[in-house]
Amino acid sequence: LSDRLQNAIGKLRKKGKVTEADVREMMREVRLALLEADVNFTVVKDFVKKVRERAVGAEVLDSLTPAQQIVKIVNDELTKTMGEEAVPLNKSPHIPTIIMMVGLQGAGKTTTAGKLANYLIKNQKARPLMIAADVYRPAAVDQLKTIGQQLDVPVFDMGTDHDPVEIVKQGMIQADLQKNDYVIIDTAGRLQIDEKLMTELENIQNEVHPTEILLTVDSMTGQAATEVAKGFDEQLNITGVVLTKLDGDTRGGAALSIREVTGKPIKFTGQGEKLDQLDVFYPDRMANRILGMGDMLSLIEKAQTDYDEQQAQEMADKIKENSFDFNDFLDQMDQIQKMGPVDELMKMIPGLANNPATKNLNVSSKDLDHIKAIVYSMTPQEREEPNLLNPSRKRRLAAGAGRPIAEVNRIIKQFETSKKMMQQMSKGNMNGMENLFGN
Ligand code: GDP
Ligand code: MG
Repeated sequence: LSDRLQNAIGKLRKKGKVTEADVREMMREVRLALLEADVNFTVVKDFVKKVRERAVGAEVLDSLTPAQQIVKIVNDELTKTMGEEAVPLNKSPHIPTIIMMVGLQGAGKTTTAGKLANYLIKNQKARPLMIAADVYRPAAVDQLKTIGQQLDVPVFDMGTDHDPVEIVKQGMIQADLQKNDYVIIDTAGRLQIDEKLMTELENIQNEVHPTEILLTVDSMTGQAATEVAKGFDEQLNITGVVLTKLDGDTRGGAALSIREVTGKPIKFTGQGEKLDQLDVFYPDRMANRILGMGDMLSLIEKAQTDYDEQQAQEMADKIKENSFDFNDFLDQMDQIQKMGPVDELMKMIPGLANNPATKNLNVSSKDLDHIKAIVYSMTPQEREEPNLLNPSRKRRLAAGAGRPIAEVNRIIKQFETSKKMMQQMSKGNMNGMENLFGN
């Protein structure tokens, strides 16, 4: 989750009752988070308005977990705006289905043409033909031919001395002869939209009436992507979008803008330079990415169902009174284990998911069982007063639990550390887990 949203949620979490002003402030943070993700300004404005109307409704204000409710609404609306479901490629009733790639120079048309051919072969055992209709750079024809060789897909080309419409026409004759079920046309791009490019594309379009006109957009171009998509759609009435280079660090706000401005579905995403790095577009995953949430929502849902609110309150009170002891420690571990495999939980926490620092953080359920065994070996008095644990008692625990003495020492130290940490968090320095679990 973006720091902004995280903070806003933290603030709301501390309040018992939420006012309209709180919701407004939260919406301000949502707006900034979207802008940071490069969502187009007007799109953000409309979107936030929609969410605010829903959020101010009773469902949030009366909720026990208003901050989570708002995040959930934002996420739902994002998903809805981007189309809810993955939209498959259109297929023509007669062969061949014609897919025409369009887009600016460097957006990834040629690469994506190859990726689509590969995808169709893998998923439908298709027999595609690719047509090299970018005649402005000799390298463009060679690039497509190389890709064709890698995939064992035929490429039709006439060099660079012919009109693209003529090349496409001849290519179609070849496809008919070879009974190719798909034809993928690679076209030229420009650094920006211009009339000559559009006319050329329109001429190809009028010649073959493609089943799909797929606009390839570089997701790293951010805000500009919206204008590009609008321009191409107005001229060519595109049927779908491929958002490339999502393997970069862009948050992918372009997906939301493009969908909202053109109404056309994003069908695939490019996830790398390799020809198998093409994914079907899933709006819900993209929504998470735009908000920077990892799988935060599933975590919230898990925590909500599995963690009893009242118990959380008791725990928080204990922390405040500094009476958190080994019995509470045990309770907490039970709660964590109930939620499922610990390492999976860790992965869902934003920031931990892909953080190299925590990559090797391996807490397995077995580790928790060992910790429990040690705590079970304590007398009730020792659990309530951990200070009693002197070296001879620790040795007894180690023997009782069948764990090395070093582990006993480590667990006790961890207990002290987490106690101290919780103490600090309860003094207002709330962040991370506490927002999700505590009150
Ligand atoms: P075109 O001018 O639209 O045909 O674009 P190209 O297909 O030639 O791609 C331009 C550059 O972007 C090439 O270096 C590609 O390898 C790279 N590229 C295309 N798609 C992706 C992608 O999804 N991820 C990454 N990282 N690079 C990509
Ligand atoms: Mg190209």
